[in-house]
Formats: sequence, C-alpha cells, structure tokens
Amino acid sequence: MPPTWEQIQLAAYERWERRGRAHGADREDWAAAEMDVAFQLGFRPAAEYPLASDEPVVVGGRPKPGCRFCERAAPRARFSQARLIVPDAVGATRLATAETCDDCYEQFAGSIDADFGRFWRSLASEDGTLDGPASVPVGAYKAMVRMAIAVMPSRELQHFADTIEWVGNPDHDFDGSLFSGTACLAYRTRHAYGVPWVSLSRRIDADAPLPYAIFALAWGRLVIEVAPPLCSKDQDHDGVALRPPGRSFTTGFGGEMGAAARRVLPLEVVERPRRRGMRLFA
Ligand SMILES: [Zn+2]
Repeated sequence: MPPTWEQIQLAAYERWERRGRAHGADREDWAAAEMDVAFQLGFRPAAEYPLASDEPVVVGGRPKPGCRFCERAAPRARFSQARLIVPDAVGATRLATAETCDDCYEQFAGSIDADFGRFWRSLASEDGTLDGPASVPVGAYKAMVRMAIAVMPSRELQHFADTIEWVGNPDHDFDGSLFSGTACLAYRTRHAYGVPWVSLSRRIDADAPLPYAIFALAWGRLVIEVAPPLCSKDQDHDGVALRPPGRSFTTGFGGEMGAAARRVLPLEVVERPRRRGMRLFA
C-alpha cells in the first residue's frame, strides 16, 4: 500500500526537527520522506550485517556445509575456509560465508568479482560527486547479486534457483528483453556511515509492484542497491521487479543533514548476435 498523506507528513516533520527546525528544505524533506516511508511500508529487513567488525562474522555454516551456488556439499566440494562476501576492492571487510565452495569462490574471484571491483572503484571518486560509469556491466551486477545470495537467510534460497544459475553462468549473453529496465542504484551520501554494512530487504505485500528482495551495500559515502533478478516470487511482476524503488539514505543532523545523491545505472545488455535469416523486427 502506498503511504498516506499523514504518514509522509509525519516523516517530513521528523526530518524538519532533525534539520534543527530550519526552513527552506520543505520540498526536499517531503520527497525524501515519501520515498523512505514507501520503502518502510513495502519491505522488512531479512538480513543485516556490519562489514567491519572486530571479529569476523560468518554467515551460514550448517554442520555439513553446502555451496549456495553449485549445491555441492563436502566432501564432493572443498570448503577450505570461510570466504569474504564483499570483495576487498571495497575495503577491509570481515563478513564471510561458510557456504561458498573453493571452486565457486575461485571462479567468482577471477571473473564477476573482478568486474565488480573495477565498477566500484569507478564509482568511488574522492571529490564527493557521483560520476563514473553510465551503466553497470553484467559481471559487476552478477557479483552484487552473488553477495545478496550469500547473505540471504537460507529459507529464501528456494525462490532464487534461476538467479543462482544465472550468477554462476560465465556466459553474460542473454535475452535482453528479460532484463530491459534492470538497473543498479548508486548513491553518494552526505556523510560517511560510521560502520559499513550490507542488508537484504524482503517485500511485505506479495501483490505490491515491488521486487521481492533488495540488496544494499554501504561503504564510506557510497551505497549501491540492486534487486536480485529472476526470483520466482517476481514472476507476476513483469517489469516492475527489476529495480529498487530507492531510498533517501539521509545522513547528518542540523544544517549538515541531507539525502544522498542518487543515480540509476541501467544494466549493460549484451545481445547475442542474431542468426542470419532471422527477422530483425517482428
Ligand atoms: Zn560451489
């Protein structure tokens, strides 16, 4: 259900108080309040983890670990150590998973995670602007979805069988029509988060025109958000399930308070070359 006028008004009022009751940002506060209230009504947290902690945090690790990506368990697959969920291109993260086998880890590290590292570095300019790429490469996008799968509560994995198969497929060509409209949101917050974090949010209302799951990663002043595609719970949501609705990611207080700058980065669709003799336009 979309937020009511009263709900937005209350949230906008709270922003005005946090701003130190300074006037002149009414329109910004209203837009940010509307976006944040819609998100709070549409989603509930399914997983949240700090990325930098004194002790390593390990997700999963059932007595007999299975790999979330190839579904093999020990001893058919090797699990020599817990593996970092967020590549170290982002920073010195401590969040790890016990449910990625050595083979899958090495495959990802040499392919999609390397693509993500380049993408992340291109976003992370020092001057506070949000420049960089105009779109998100498929490999980088797959790496973000891989992180979403890694932090997901295990009971949710059943809805993402096609997603997991797609993440593990080294071939990035696919039917563009399936992914048209898919995008990653990139944010530059006004202030850095003290503790970097990842989160997975789950849709509350099955009929709402929202993606089933939203993954977010925040490090320093950069936040990225994606909706893992091909979720079986999104089958009835043609087109609307492909990008997060967005949040304000407001930081700071008083005169220093502000919503994050935001960019929508569409997925780079790699079309398979058409076979000769095929009609280009139906
Ligand atoms: Zn595996």
